[in-house]
Amino acid sequence: MKVALVTGGGRGIGRAIVEEFHGAGYKVAFTYSSNDDAANAVVEHCGPDVMAIKADVRDFARAGQVVAETIAKFGPITALINNAGIKKDLPLMKMDADSWRDVVDTNLNGTFNYSRNAVSGMLRTGGAILNVTSVSGVIGMAGQTNYSASKAGVIGFTKALAKEIARFGVRVNAIAPGFIDTDMTSAIDEATRKKLYSQIPSGQPGSAADVAKLVLYLASDEAKYVTGQIWNIDGGLT
Ligand code: NAP
Repeated sequence: MKVALVTGGGRGIGRAIVEEFHGAGYKVAFTYSSNDDAANAVVEHCGPDVMAIKADVRDFARAGQVVAETIAKFGPITALINNAGIKKDLPLMKMDADSWRDVVDTNLNGTFNYSRNAVSGMLRTGGAILNVTSVSGVIGMAGQTNYSASKAGVIGFTKALAKEIARFGVRVNAIAPGFIDTDMTSAIDEATRKKLYSQIPSGQPGSAADVAKLVLYLASDEAKYVTGQIWNIDGGLT
């Protein structure tokens, strides 16, 4: 039985991952933070093999409950996808401590919280951990010191954990999207977005489904010798 747990699966890239894994025969639990309507729509669309759980990724104890709930309903987790993430962009000289902490807490600490709670079960069954980072963590982006730092942290975490648990049959990879059409990018003002998109060699943003297909491949046996890698998916940006 294939079971996936996806954080931040109510919208955007996370939703596409939930649907892609469900389509491939996984039972899927996903978390979200506040948007009940979006989460319910995913469950309605997919049916009973998909479960939504409202849980803030910043909460370590809650992550333990989510992992236990997923195992109780669907069985041992074979794929953990750490996807939930936020951005709060500001130049460093205007960055307040809350914007720094919120982004690092969600993107980096959230990845630790779920990996730490799921890992002992996964060591018994084997499986894959997929961490959604960003090209911003690979090359650094002006105005995103908090976001770039959090995503670079996820890259270091991925490489270290991959070495730690490869011998137990658990692979760990990171996916680094460039500009992908979701609510996160549509929040950027039109002029800035046009300027950013003009830098993409392939000339357009990617879709959430493009990212989801790569994540599914990395979770599958097709990728059984692939671990500790960072997979840029960015239309040639980096
Ligand atoms: P999105 O459309 O804004 O969706 C984010 C999802 O994460 C939502 O389901 C949201 O829940 C959930 N979430 C946010 N904070 C959370 C928290 N504290 N606890 C639990 N869930 C939380 O974002 P996206 O564009 O799909 O991004 C997904 C991931 O890809 C993020 O890690 C992001 O950094 C990364 N990424 C995105 C792009 C891009 O161009 N879009 C590029 C590179 C990397 P609610 O629905 O309840 O709000």
